[in-house]
Amino acid sequence: FSALNNDEAVQSTNDDACGCKCSAVNLGYWKDSYVNYFVKRYDRKPPEINRGYYARVKGIEHLVSQCLQVSKKECQIISFGAGFDTLYWRLKESGCTFSKFIEFDFPIMTSKKHFLIKKHKQLFEHLQFKDTDDKSVSPNLYTADYFLIGADLRDLNSISNKLTSAGINFDLPTIFIAECVLVYVDVQAISNLLKYLAKSFSDCIFINYEQVNLNDTFGRIMLENLRARGCMLPGHEDCENLDKQKSRFTSNGWDGAKAWTMVEIYNSFMENERCRIESIEMLDEKELLSQLLEHYCISVGWKGGSFENICIQEK
Ligand code: SAM
Repeated sequence: FSALNNDEAVQSTNDDACGCKCSAVNLGYWKDSYVNYFVKRYDRKPPEINRGYYARVKGIEHLVSQCLQVSKKECQIISFGAGFDTLYWRLKESGCTFSKFIEFDFPIMTSKKHFLIKKHKQLFEHLQFKDTDDKSVSPNLYTADYFLIGADLRDLNSISNKLTSAGINFDLPTIFIAECVLVYVDVQAISNLLKYLAKSFSDCIFINYEQVNLNDTFGRIMLENLRARGCMLPGHEDCENLDKQKSRFTSNGWDGAKAWTMVEIYNSFMENERCRIESIEMLDEKELLSQLLEHYCISVGWKGGSFENICIQEK
């Protein structure tokens, strides 16, 4: 692996994500009854960050719900670099059904998550265990439908073996999620992962949230910050626009792709919902929010028949 990569710096980005989600949730941007169990302490974030996280979480949630509707009960969800994300619990709480929810992250991260899940009854009580479960040893947690697995995304053999050990069905509709993860992974390793997924699964969609448009002044500052933290690898500058985000899928064996900046995602939300969140806190610098949202995107790539028409909310 590249000597430039700093796994610990990359892992620490999960603390930021979790702290920002807590900040927004506790101010009432969206409901998440679980995120507080994963965070010891956090600082209140400025309004543009809270709104940005709202767009990120709701944008992904909206696409995932649509996918679950079209694929019915049999869908599998696989989240790469899941960190301490709470989507499994939020989907369960809202009555969504799926056959399997698998989360991958570095073993050190999944063992921490494993510990916190066991510690908090409110998280643990949603899990159902099979009678015999000898694979469920930290850093892994294997239940009837939730699987928390320690693996490095750059190690394709390990990912492939662990998917098999979790009983994945390569013919069922499958949603892959990478929420602010790929930018931290070596570009060749992402390419290999995308090729492997497109080759192995017959009917699937990959939902990716990450930085984009990094070649203007604001983008270059973001890039420098990532570099200074030691968690950005060379090569990602190339993913600088929506077209490149899409071609990353189509050049790695996927049938088609779409991509939207977070400005488009934010503007696609229902007006009453936008009014609600905009009334939570005053935002003097509207320009700052647009600038931030211009530099993040959600892209999707699909393969097979189920997910071709998945789109952002129509108003
Ligand atoms: N997806 C979560 C969210 O949005 O709340 C966490 C996002 S955090 C910014 C990035 C996550 O990706 C971290 O938990 C990190 O450990 C994980 N990650 C980055 N590179 C990885 C790799 N090579 N293998 C496994 N996990 C990785």
